[in-house]
Amino acid sequence: MKEKYDCIVVGAGPGGTAAAYTLASNGLNVIQLERGEYPGSKNVQGAVLYANSLEKIIPEFRMDAPLERFLAEQRVWIIDKDAYVGTTHRTAALNWDNADRYTILRAPFDRWFSKKAQEAGVLLICETTVLDLIKEKERVIGVRTDREDGELYGEVVILADGVNSMLARKAGFRKEIVPKEVALGVKETIFIPQEILENRFGLVDNQGVAIEMLGSITRGMLGTAFLYTNKESISIGIGCLLADLKKEKIPPFELLESLKNHPAVKPLIVGGEAKEYSAHLIPEGGYHAMPQIYGEGWMVVGDAAMFVNSIHREGSNLAMESGRLAAETVIEIKKKKGRFNKENLALYKEKLEKSFVLKDLRKYKNFHALIGKNRHFLTTYPEIMNDSLFSLLKVDGVDKRTKEKETIKNILKKRSVSGILQDAIQLWRATR
Ligand SMILES: Cc1cc2nc3c(=O)[nH]c(=O)nc-3n(C[C@H](O)[C@H](O)[C@H](O)COP(=O)(O)OP(=O)(O)OC[C@H]3O[C@@H](n4cnc5c(N)ncnc54)[C@H](O)[C@@H]3O)c2cc1C
Repeated sequence: MKEKYDCIVVGAGPGGTAAAYTLASNGLNVIQLERGEYPGSKNVQGAVLYANSLEKIIPEFRMDAPLERFLAEQRVWIIDKDAYVGTTHRTAALNWDNADRYTILRAPFDRWFSKKAQEAGVLLICETTVLDLIKEKERVIGVRTDREDGELYGEVVILADGVNSMLARKAGFRKEIVPKEVALGVKETIFIPQEILENRFGLVDNQGVAIEMLGSITRGMLGTAFLYTNKESISIGIGCLLADLKKEKIPPFELLESLKNHPAVKPLIVGGEAKEYSAHLIPEGGYHAMPQIYGEGWMVVGDAAMFVNSIHREGSNLAMESGRLAAETVIEIKKKKGRFNKENLALYKEKLEKSFVLKDLRKYKNFHALIGKNRHFLTTYPEIMNDSLFSLLKVDGVDKRTKEKETIKNILKKRSVSGILQDAIQLWRATR
């Protein structure tokens, strides 16, 4: 008879490994299946790691996790054709030991996290694709893999197979991917000698900088861009709604090239050597796009459940949080000797409701629809902000009162008072 596991976890990204680690360190018998050659081999991220969700799983992670830099500085740039208006927050209160955000490279990070899970007792099998869920009537009782004799049985299956989640779609737990609910992100890693990088960004003692960008760089399409400093490289990328990319027929690598050549960005990466290029989908549909996340014998975590807060550029932390909460649900049911039926697994949703995962997704549930409908936020306002500051700050012999009047006149040429008021109210409503 085939061995039956307490839990089968599909996928070894942050969501799957958080679940597998939590289960195994509580004494459960867990098998984790990953189609890649090793954890992280198929994964793409910016990448900023948000410490809090990992800290709840491995409190001492800072001791040996492959972290690149801690984020001492955060910039937000609203970009126009040849200018940007920005904010910077830099603090000396953060250091390596207490920072809440670190830059990482996903391949070494995922491998490290997975090693911790294996040390806790997880049986990880790589280069194995799960092709199907095995069901007994409505109940999921195992998985069918692409290995010979590749059927595995478990009391419960956790799907952590990422944004495409072919399994959830095949099993009818989730609809097909809709282009207006996913973004396509492209990213390049540009290598720069450490000393040059630190001088260029003003960094000491493992400090790092994150720059988030929006505005004309996405050419009116719904999306954002980023630039993060690693130890001796820069991660730079841009992501736009797939529906917009298809409509505008703009290849994403063209957008990345324009970003790299923008006058604000070019000096930061000059002299670097681009060594890695990757592309990946990002779930952007938010709360409204969330599929059914539990059922008879199964739960879905991370990107597969569309858990990404794209406004704050958080994804891996939602994956880890949901992975841990799914595992804790299994542990609680097991302790009570309960069954892994739909009624008992509803506890997973309850846990998510109390966590930042669903609270944040609910907070922004209408944001995407608003920006999707009202592109002024991506086109007109960045232009207004950049033009107004340019004219107000320019010392050209024109008196300041005249400048103010001209600026207001120029703003109103681009957007009427009632339009601005409506936009402000809509924005407030969509984010309150
Ligand atoms: C360009 C870009 C930038 C990003 N930047 C950030 C950032 O800075 N910070 C942040 O927090 N998030 C960021 N994200 C989002 C983040 O990468 C994801 O939210 C996170 O990886 C989700 O983790 P996951 O475990 O749910 O899925 P994944 O990391 O996608 O892992 C899924 C795993 O399942 C495996 N798998 C899939 N199907 C099968 C199958 N049938 N059988 C076996 N294995 C399977 C895959 O190989 C993969 O290893 C970014 C995403 C992109 C694309």
